[in-house]
This record gives sequence, C-alpha cells and structure tokens, in this order.
Amino acid sequence: SLSPIVATLLQHAETTPHRPCIVFDQHLITYADLARAVAGWAGRFHSLGINRGDRIALALPNTPAFIAAYFGAQLAGAAVVLINPQYRHTELSHLLSDSEPAIVVATTENEAFITAAMPESRPHLLKPLAELCGAPPADPGLFTPPAADEMALIAYTSGTTGRAKGAVHTHASLAANCAAISTAWRWTEHDRLLLMLPLFHVHGLGVGVHGTIRNGASLELHSRFDADVALQRMHDPAITLFFGVPTMYIRLIEAARHQGVPEHRLRLFVSGSAPLSPQTFADFASLFGQPILERYGMTETGMNLTNPYAGERRPGSVGMPFPGQEARIVDRTTGQPLPTGQIGEIQVRGPHLFRGYWRNPAATAAAFTADGWFYTGDLGFVDDDGYFHITGRSRDLIISGGYNIYPREVEEVLAQHPAVAECAVYGEADPDLGEVPVAAVVTNGQAVTAADLIEFCRMHLAAYKRPRRIHFVTSLPRNALGKVQRHLLADAVSNHR
Ligand code: ATP
Ligand code: MG
Repeated sequence: SLSPIVATLLQHAETTPHRPCIVFDQHLITYADLARAVAGWAGRFHSLGINRGDRIALALPNTPAFIAAYFGAQLAGAAVVLINPQYRHTELSHLLSDSEPAIVVATTENEAFITAAMPESRPHLLKPLAELCGAPPADPGLFTPPAADEMALIAYTSGTTGRAKGAVHTHASLAANCAAISTAWRWTEHDRLLLMLPLFHVHGLGVGVHGTIRNGASLELHSRFDADVALQRMHDPAITLFFGVPTMYIRLIEAARHQGVPEHRLRLFVSGSAPLSPQTFADFASLFGQPILERYGMTETGMNLTNPYAGERRPGSVGMPFPGQEARIVDRTTGQPLPTGQIGEIQVRGPHLFRGYWRNPAATAAAFTADGWFYTGDLGFVDDDGYFHITGRSRDLIISGGYNIYPREVEEVLAQHPAVAECAVYGEADPDLGEVPVAAVVTNGQAVTAADLIEFCRMHLAAYKRPRRIHFVTSLPRNALGKVQRHLLADAVSNHR
C-alpha cells in the first residue's frame, strides 16, 4: 500500500506493540516505544506552530532520536530536510537558506555551527532531550497522519558533481519505493538489518529505515561503519541483512582476511551508491560464500534497478527494474530508445520518482520528458539477458580525439594492478585531443612507477584509453558515502604536488 510510512509505523505499534524495532547500544526499542516518542516529537513541533508543508531540518547523528524526530516531524505535517551533522559553514548556509526550515534539530556538538549559518528566517533550534525523545512521550492517537500526496522529505543529493540539489519526495513516492524493495528482496518481519550507513542519506533512511518499518522488521543501528564491529555483530543470529557502499565491502574483505569470516545467518548483502567492482564482488563471494546483490539508486528516485534475489547476480551489473518500475537506455541527443548493447543515458519511470527539485522549476523541467521519464544523468547499456550495466555519469565521460572514454572502464583495469589500492580516472585538457585521460592513484605501498601503470593499461585496453599521466596521491577526495568527487580531483592532485 502507498500509505505514509509513519502511518504504517503507528499501525504496527497498535497491532504488535512489543515487537522489537530498533536496537541501539544494547537498548531495545519496541514499536510502541518508538510510536510514543514520535508522538512526543510531533507534540513538541506542534507547540512551535508547525503548519502542513513547513520544513523541519534534522542535523543529527545516527541515533534513535533521529528516527523518532524524523517520523515526529512527518506526523506533525512537516517535510523533513536531511543535513549531514558534519556539515560546516559553506554546506550549512546553502542547505538552510535553500530549504528555509521553521525548525532545525541539532546536537550540542553542531549547534554553534548551525546558529552561525542561520538564514534570515531564523528557524527555532531544538536539541533531543534524551536518547529517543524530544519531549515527554505522547499518545500517537492525538495526531492525524499526513496524506499520501503531501511533501514528506527534501533529500539533498550527495553533491558528488557539484552543489547539492533538494529532491522533493511525497509520502507516496517513499512508500512506493519501499514496497518495490520489499518485494524484490523478500523483506519480512523476521529480518533484522545491521545498519551502519548514515541516516541523512536515502541509502540509510529510505532503504534501511523505511524498509524496516514498512515490514514490521527490526534494525540494529550503529553510529558509524567499522569493519571489525560489523564482523563481530554478524555473529548475532538475529541479524539477517546488511546494506553497504562499495568502500564498506572493501574494508570488510580486508578485515575478514585477517580475522576470518564470522559464523552468521545473514541472507542478503546489498551494495549501492557507487559502482561495485567485479574484483570486490568476486573477493567477497569467495570469502563469504554468497554474492553481493548490487542495486542502483539515486536521491531523486530511490531505488531503480536491482540484481535478482533468486536468479543470477551478475558482477559489474545493476540488474533489472524493480517491480512496478520501468527503465530504458536512450540516445543522449535524440532521446530515442537504443537497442541492446549500445551505450546511452539511463531513463527511469514509475511511482517511486521524486516530485521535482525544491524551488528549482527549471531543473525539474529539464529532468523529465513529457511522458514522465526521468533523465538520470548516468550512462549504461542493457546486455542480451536484460541486465543493465552502468558505464559512468554522462558528465564524467572523457572525449579524447573524438573517442569516448568511460573512466570506470580504465579504473577497473588499474584496480587489477597489484600495487594499486584506489584510483580515479578523469580528463585533463589537451591542445591536440581536446581531453586526455589521466589517473589519480593511491598505492598500497608497493613500489610502482607511472610508466609501469601506463604500460599495464596499454596491455589491457585500446591505446587511446590509456592514462597519459599518473598522479600519485595519498587519498582520493570522497564524500560522506565514499564516492569519489571527480570535480575535486584536479585540486587534490595539485595540492599534493
Ligand atoms: P549529485 O547529484 O549531487 O552530484 P550524487 O549523484 O552522487 O550527487 P546520489 O543521489 O547520492 O548523489 O547518488 C546517485 C548516483 O550514484 C547515481 O546517479 C549514480 O551515478 C551513482 N550510483 C548509485 N548506485 C550505483 C551503482 N550501483 N553503480 C554505479 N553508480 C551508482
Ligand atoms: Mg546525482
């Protein structure tokens, strides 16, 4: 059903009040506990004069209070704005002035930064009063849950390619998303998710928290990812699901090679937010005895494509559309659908799509076709068996002497070199060819020269794709989800010199 997830939460609290919902720091929070805390927050927001359509910003770390305040804001009729609690002045002043919240919920750690970045509208600043609550727990029956087509969430994109954009979701689009995920991944009330992803992003919140609540399941929340803690917690037979980004899987593999793979009852490991290399897929499968399920999603759309739960999970592929959704590949210039095997832009359509960019009708209009397809900005192709493959973002495409070079393809070759720990390929201006590919490389300590790496690529790829220069760096610029921020690479490289 597409009823708001906060309404589903209240229903579970009525019918199965004692069922576990959140485990945090060895504390068990039941559905009834959470619903009372949610109503407490809703009451606190209400008493500050919140009206339907107002925004409430959360700049909180991963705690049960985050989840209670999130649903409390929605129960009070507001739309939630998610803010990474580590954000400082530049990011905060952009997000706060763009979203104009009536209330910001922050912590003792970040309140000073928030106050300094407050827009002229001067929102109220609140802090959680206890682990779960913002106010004395209240009776959820005092509030009428919002309607499905009301604005529920403004989620800002990760800012991987530039300034973060606010994607507006309704309760219905969020519910459609987790209905699709639940069916595809067979989520049930018996599942418990080990959740170490940040809650201020759709991966942790829209997939992890929403999926759990919709299915009356439970989650074990951690404030951050730690590979050793993750392996330790996987011993708990209650844990059945783990969701992560590729860098988390790389760290898990390293840790498991040292201390062994735990006895566990996990039935599903999911990866998304960035490309999972076939190397990581293979390493994980041989250690953990099961293939990672890779899926593809965006802040604007939630989840779009998924490898099958039961069928073959193909390395390097993100699978097929979720139930009830459509996806296709189109020519970037003509907008015409392309045949199997040809690379073009990925378009998606369905009830899971956001309603538009917040206060940006021009960007919204440019993002959709007249018949409702959304331009993802990602490039890919469909193979003969209907599996989608992502080749990269269209803006990262390098055009060198008229040839298209997909950074991801070159990165996957470089990653196979025994001295390479991490790498990113991008274009540098070239008087002759327009652009040439170059690579920023982090080594794992083994001695290697630029010439060695260029020759290695030369053996595995067409000559025009080989990086012309290798910049050795100590780390790559990554955002909170571990994604490489390509627009910062040139700076990172020159700062390193
Ligand atoms: P911004 O839009 O601000 O530049 P962003 O696109 O990184 O940031 P998100 O919405 O968090 O913000 O990320 C969505 C993007 O992540 C997708 O468009 C795609 O490029 C990438 N992505 C997600 N899942 C995968 C995957 N499985 N494989 C490859 N890329 C992925
Ligand atoms: Mg994006």
